[in-house]
Amino acid sequence: MQDQKDGHLYRQRRAESRKSKPMLSLVVPAYNEADVLDHFLSDTRSVLDTLEIPYEYVFVDDGSRDATADIIAARLNGGVPGRLVGLSRNFGKEAALSAGLAHAKGDIVVVIDADLQDPPQLIPQMVDGWRQGYDVVYGLRVDRSSDTALKRGTANMFYRLFNSLANIDMPANAGDFRLMDRAVVDALLKLPERNRFMKGLFAWVGYPSMALPYQRPERRAGIGKWNYWKLWNFAIDGLTGFTTMPLRVWLYCGSLVAAGSFAYAAYLIIRVLAYGVDVPGYASLMVALLFFSGVQLLSIGMIGEYVARLFNEAKQRPVYLVQDILEGRSAIDGSGTDAE
Ligand code: UDP
Ligand code: MG
Repeated sequence: MQDQKDGHLYRQRRAESRKSKPMLSLVVPAYNEADVLDHFLSDTRSVLDTLEIPYEYVFVDDGSRDATADIIAARLNGGVPGRLVGLSRNFGKEAALSAGLAHAKGDIVVVIDADLQDPPQLIPQMVDGWRQGYDVVYGLRVDRSSDTALKRGTANMFYRLFNSLANIDMPANAGDFRLMDRAVVDALLKLPERNRFMKGLFAWVGYPSMALPYQRPERRAGIGKWNYWKLWNFAIDGLTGFTTMPLRVWLYCGSLVAAGSFAYAAYLIIRVLAYGVDVPGYASLMVALLFFSGVQLLSIGMIGEYVARLFNEAKQRPVYLVQDILEGRSAIDGSGTDAE
């Protein structure tokens, strides 16, 4: 375990005031996870039951096309505590997480994938961290050997780029798997933007945070929903949502190029004065023309990225739409008794 932000004074004050039996909400985004849900429920329940605190599940059905919703509904009817939030279509994991956080009632909230790649065995340590006064306890993937070398390499590049450009510190290799105090969840829910790049938002809200290293296992069943095109777009969303550096870069490029062309113009004038008019120069003209058109298109494209995002934010559309909420029984603790 390592301290990310110490915040010692605040942390101590919090540790003293923390309830011994907080209510825990488990927020689970699920998109076509029918194959793995029962494994997920049995693994998480066996861990949660040892905790002896009241808990509930908040499943978000992100427009699944398989039996995900039916299975969750059946389990809720069978006595699994919590609720199912059914979105009107597939909005993507980031939106599903926002929906789950909005419908969680717990004093502490754990965000966890349905595919058991986020080991539930870490939850007790996360709760311990919370009791020590940390507001966020996040899982840190120490070993990404279950990912391909390409995915690891590109992920590293992304974290490095993000952290050097954006003014917030996003821990590399921290996923969404984390425990958050109610205060942090409320802070996240107050952020108005439509672009829900959760890793960035998690980092932006701050609060004393603790890292819990873990080995990320393979997905238990079902198939992953990411591909490189999605990841690429995800990375662009992340970068443009948290830094305006790509816009500012053109200021410096422009100044450099302008300075260079002034120098070149001066040189040409002197040369014409000294040696007279010299017509050949088609190649250099062509090269300069192509080069600067390329630079201009690129910079306009980048500005376009931000304009498109302004457009999306300006529309003020909701991040997700809920079509139905199915309530199961209220939170229970390990002994199986109702908390309320
Ligand atoms: N997920 C979701 N909506 C989507 C894609 C994924 O709610 O559009 C959920 C999915 O059901 C799982 C979690 O997000 O619980 C992580 O998805 P996945 O395992 O595909 O991603 P990875 O583990 O590769 O990050
Ligand atoms: Mg997964």
